[in-house]
Amino acid sequence: MNSKAQQEAEKICKRCRKSFLPSSNDPSSCHFHPSFFVCRRHDDQKRYYELGPDDPPYAAKFYDCCGAEDPAAPGCQKSSHISYDDD
Ligand SMILES: [Zn+2]
Ligand SMILES: [Zn+2]
Repeated sequence: MNSKAQQEAEKICKRCRKSFLPSSNDPSSCHFHPSFFVCRRHDDQKRYYELGPDDPPYAAKFYDCCGAEDPAAPGCQKSSHISYDDD
């Protein structure tokens, strides 16, 4: 008896780098940012970041899509995971 054959293989999502089971992959499983984490000023119209007295004026680092300033911030978009096998 090989119990491993019964076990579903985990895959790695190429978008969020998390492992997932294909059987539990649904349209809200994957949280990701569609844009890059950038380092520049926020646009003045949509500023999420109040500069502190010691911060240079261009210190803001944030996701261009949603303004989240933490590189580990949960994604602002949801979708299903994409494995390296899919394309
Ligand atoms: Zn985002
Ligand atoms: Zn994912």
